[in-house]
Amino acid sequence: MTLSELKEVTAKGKMPSFVATQIAKWLYDKKVTSFDEMINISKKNREWLSEGYCIGREAPCSHTRSSDGTVKYLFATGNGNTVESVYIPDHDRATLCVSSQVGCKMNCYFCATGRQGFKANLTAAQIMNQILSIPPAPAPGATPMTPLTNIVFMGMGEPLDNLEEVLKVIEILTAPWGMAWSPKRITVSTVGKLPQLKDLLDKTQVHVAVSVHTADPRQRESMMPAQKPFPIQSVMRLLEGYDFSHQRRLSLEYIMWRGVNDDIAHADMLVKLIGKNDCRVNLIRYHAIPGIDLYPCSEERMLMFRNRLNDKGITATIRASRGEDIMAACGMLANTRGNK
Ligand code: SF4
Repeated sequence: MTLSELKEVTAKGKMPSFVATQIAKWLYDKKVTSFDEMINISKKNREWLSEGYCIGREAPCSHTRSSDGTVKYLFATGNGNTVESVYIPDHDRATLCVSSQVGCKMNCYFCATGRQGFKANLTAAQIMNQILSIPPAPAPGATPMTPLTNIVFMGMGEPLDNLEEVLKVIEILTAPWGMAWSPKRITVSTVGKLPQLKDLLDKTQVHVAVSVHTADPRQRESMMPAQKPFPIQSVMRLLEGYDFSHQRRLSLEYIMWRGVNDDIAHADMLVKLIGKNDCRVNLIRYHAIPGIDLYPCSEERMLMFRNRLNDKGITATIRASRGEDIMAACGMLANTRGNK
């Protein structure tokens, strides 16, 4: 819950409104898992709270560890559904890739999640639970996990298709009464769902990552049905109206497929699409998914593509791939238990 939602609860329980701030501190700063731990709240009020509400913290039902340190967690979300979150440690940083929906409506051809279809939106509580319930303490004798430094909404689902709940999570993460993170630690990835993208840009300062994958509109429509209602050309024109030259970053995600979108002509189309936008391009190695006739392109090809973008003045990097051995890399998330 956000602070204003907590205030509605305390008003209902006839408590002074400062109790809402105390509850927020217990939930998001101290990260307690029961009302009993909220010791500066009267016993009577704690009892009233526990009769009508729950903290909503649920440990992951399983996890799988990659040889590169990446850990994929499976969370139950009710009705037999599950979602995955991926913890990616990198020296003194650790990023959690969170899911915002069970399945996804966008139906991108290359994506394991899209192939599952849409099951449900996650609530803000279910998204927050992924962030708060990653096991904080290591098993005895194990190396301590690096605390989370970044959150990326790049797991299962299209975050802008569940914007109301995602905005609540961003508020909780960044508000002084919440976790007080800088918005620079948060990235929301999208296929470019309009007009929700404008809402996100206007209401928050988080970084934005747009999944482009090809600048050819017809080819994009064949791979990403979202191109039809939300053409990437319109998305880029909208983004031109925002400042990404200082604190806020815009990145374009580009998965590279052999013989599909990996030649000079595609690089030049991408340059044209970017136009005046201040952004960086992340070139992503494709991870083969059973049943999908797309294949990764060679390292040489990726370097050639990157160099072409660099020569045209665009910052482009080849993103290091993590968690491929546990099906946790980009586009591979599709819970292994199967949703109803
Ligand atoms: S790539 Fe993202 S938007 Fe497309 S189907 Fe997969 S989860 Fe949905």
